[in-house]
Amino acid sequence: MSDIIRLLPDHVANQIAAGEVVQRPASVVKELVENSVDAGATEIKLVLKEAGKTLIQVIDNGKGMTDTDARMAFERHATSKITSAEDLFALQTKGFRGEALASIAAIAHVELKTRTEAAEFGTHIVIEGTKLISQEMTVVPIGTSFSVKNLFFNIPARRNFLKSTNVEFRNIVDEFERIALVHCNIHFIMIHNGNEVYNLPSTNLRQRIVNVFGSRTNEKLVPIKESTEIVEVSGFVGKPEFAKKSRGEQFFFVNDRFVKSGYLHHAVIAAFEGLLKESTHPTYFIYLKVPTNSIDINIHPTKTEVKFDDEQALYSILRSTIKHSLGQFNVAPVLDFQR
Ligand code: ADP
Ligand code: MG
Repeated sequence: MSDIIRLLPDHVANQIAAGEVVQRPASVVKELVENSVDAGATEIKLVLKEAGKTLIQVIDNGKGMTDTDARMAFERHATSKITSAEDLFALQTKGFRGEALASIAAIAHVELKTRTEAAEFGTHIVIEGTKLISQEMTVVPIGTSFSVKNLFFNIPARRNFLKSTNVEFRNIVDEFERIALVHCNIHFIMIHNGNEVYNLPSTNLRQRIVNVFGSRTNEKLVPIKESTEIVEVSGFVGKPEFAKKSRGEQFFFVNDRFVKSGYLHHAVIAAFEGLLKESTHPTYFIYLKVPTNSIDINIHPTKTEVKFDDEQALYSILRSTIKHSLGQFNVAPVLDFQR
């Protein structure tokens, strides 16, 4: 019998990888905006058409790429952010897998324009379904602009699976908020179908939250703060009397990354014990800083799940910190405001 095992061609391997990284337009938004953050941008502009189904453009004023790097960026496992597996335990960047651009370019029409400070001219690359169509010199400002058009053009099943524009837009807003709530010093702009949806100037955390969720949020916020050897806690919880029927704004950020954690959520709920009206949900914006070697974020391609070394200690520190803050701010027990 002859040998039958072959290596998959790049465009096929990339398309398979893309299935994990890119589920919907919001995934592309997340990856591109995170890249802009990693590039040190102070201004990031997101331009969308039809909730990203026809256009997702991210323009930043970050450090840009050289001509060669711009081409390399689309290779699978090509990254400037880590060089060894040990680096995974000292991560300072959002990215590290070197997969996003290769995946996106495998399933969309992508255009990249970029220039570094040292270069007089920039470079302009067009890639469609992993295939390099052209690379030319161009006149552009310092920074990077990615345009992603016709997402899933070559995977009809995926394209048809996309939800309504409203639903896909909501998903994009979620991803956008998760990044904007961490990087308050970055000016973010979002434009959808020609309308400006967000314009968030560089500011402090409280003001950023207010700019995202509206001026009425300000009076609801109770600051939290604690510093121990295993974790630094900061951010805000919403006063219990403003808790909502719908599970609204609840955010955990660990080392500047949005994460989901049912376990830590439970710690917050435990801190609110006796203060919430039945079936209402507290708002929270909780920022945890832990030593980079005490968590593993490489559990899932989208990196929203993390593994902590000492989850139980985090739980009790979080619970007591919030309890303490709610007490300090003289939050009344339920009966007092059920008039
Ligand atoms: P990762 O972010 O995991 O490194 P990506 O596929 O997202 O992988 O990006 C590949 C590389 O392309 C990055 O490591 C970075 O060097 C470069 N890059 C991507 N986006 C930008 C950007 N907006 N500005 C500068 N460099 C970028
Ligand atoms: Mg990336």
